[in-house]
Amino acid sequence: MSHLVIARKYRPAKFSEVIGQSQVTVTLGNAILKDKLAHAYVFSGPRGVGKTTAARILAKAVNCAEYPSAEPCNKCVSCKAIQAGNSMDIIEIDAASNRGIDDMRQLRENAAFAPSSSRYKVYVIDEAHQITKDAFNAFLKTLEEPPPYIIFVLATTEPEKLPVTILSRCQHFKFVLVNPEDVKNVLKKICDSEKAPVSDDALDAICDEAGGSVRDAESILEQVISSASGKKIEKEDVEFILGLVESAKIRETLSAIAAYDTKAAFDIIDEIYSKGFSLQQFTRQVITALRRVLAKVLSGIPSEGFESSDRVYWMLESLCSAEQKMKWSEYPKILLELAFYKITSDFIPIDQAIELAGVGVDAPESEAPGAKISHPLPNVKNEKARQISSAGEAAPATPGQGPPQDPSAALVALLKKECGSAGKIFDIADEVSVTGRKLFCRFSGKNEVQAKRLLANSEVMEKVLAANGYKGMSIDVTIVMDENQEPVSHEEKMTEAKQLEIEEPIIAKLHGLVGGDLEGREDE
Ligand SMILES: [Zn+2]
Repeated sequence: MSHLVIARKYRPAKFSEVIGQSQVTVTLGNAILKDKLAHAYVFSGPRGVGKTTAARILAKAVNCAEYPSAEPCNKCVSCKAIQAGNSMDIIEIDAASNRGIDDMRQLRENAAFAPSSSRYKVYVIDEAHQITKDAFNAFLKTLEEPPPYIIFVLATTEPEKLPVTILSRCQHFKFVLVNPEDVKNVLKKICDSEKAPVSDDALDAICDEAGGSVRDAESILEQVISSASGKKIEKEDVEFILGLVESAKIRETLSAIAAYDTKAAFDIIDEIYSKGFSLQQFTRQVITALRRVLAKVLSGIPSEGFESSDRVYWMLESLCSAEQKMKWSEYPKILLELAFYKITSDFIPIDQAIELAGVGVDAPESEAPGAKISHPLPNVKNEKARQISSAGEAAPATPGQGPPQDPSAALVALLKKECGSAGKIFDIADEVSVTGRKLFCRFSGKNEVQAKRLLANSEVMEKVLAANGYKGMSIDVTIVMDENQEPVSHEEKMTEAKQLEIEEPIIAKLHGLVGGDLEGREDE
């Protein structure tokens, strides 16, 4: 293989060779043909989709011996000089390192000179959003009264950071991510001319990872080809080079999640972590695989053990949120475990939730999948019954053998230990007992405020219980009001509960911790 890197060797030389940006390239070609060129352009869009390449083609086309033509000829002296990077009149500036006012002043002085041998002097300013405010002001004067032989192209991934005064003086072209099939076709052609055999699966894996950036795809392909020493490249080779978890393991993960097998899912995390893979990368792979599952399930085809699109949607939402938080967290493993715990244990499909809520209850109230179900009872002001379990799960996993007499003392001791002052509220309850999978606490009206504090923290307490072997255990807070007190509405109840959470920063923090947000953990 040649020393020239693939991206450079196969860089498009004509507008028609730029993949997936015809909305830009056709318009530019027509502008040249009709002699309607602007003196300043903004080319915006994601990285590696052809912005600088298109700018170079534009520079060739406006200076070509065949002008006006919608494409450069790539044969004349000017085209060849620009192609080889030898033209004095095509000036490429990387604004990431030349962003200051002096750089822009120099550009202004330089622009005052007419091109040496070309029709147009073309300035291509890459990463233009990095130019400082003062430097933009210096540049603006040139942009307001440009010499007729000047064309500016400002290429940027973040056009919203360009000053409006600049944007309003430029013609704006938006480049887009390239369709994976188109990227794959580009790669196939490169493989053919490099005589490098690469399997279809391997190309798909490259395109998945490149996410619509042609340059990224070419760069991955180059790594893969140079490491393959002539043998056919398979998907596993690509996964190895990219540090991806092998697809068989991803499928194993999906099976564990589909079967609500928390332990198996945790074991996979341990294995991947101990092998040194990036957990965030792994999470993205699971998300990509689940997205494919969702597409199939939506078309009515069960996939990887999933039948309900609601469940897959909800899992995707949980994992995407975990993946976002993992970027900034020092505890990515815990965040992923929490997410896996959630999606392997908390979920009840909505129809099942409604059914559950309907059993023996006069006025059932159901919420979104995975949410709480509350059963209003007569003469009870505040009540919260959380009945969340995976389908068909046995009684709560209490440590030890056989049904315990009344483990409330052990539960309360645990909560007092783990939940600080909120745990002490149990001391003033009139009754604390365990029935089935409910920790029932009854308070009298005079302790209403404390009881509400407990209610506000019950969800986090349930998670603490679950993490300590009492999976599926819910906390049921009942306040028995004196007869002369007015009942409070559901909305007021929730507002008050929220208010208490705010007034109780340590509890709110703990809530955040178990909910997956680890902010403030170190100062506890
Ligand atoms: Zn030419």
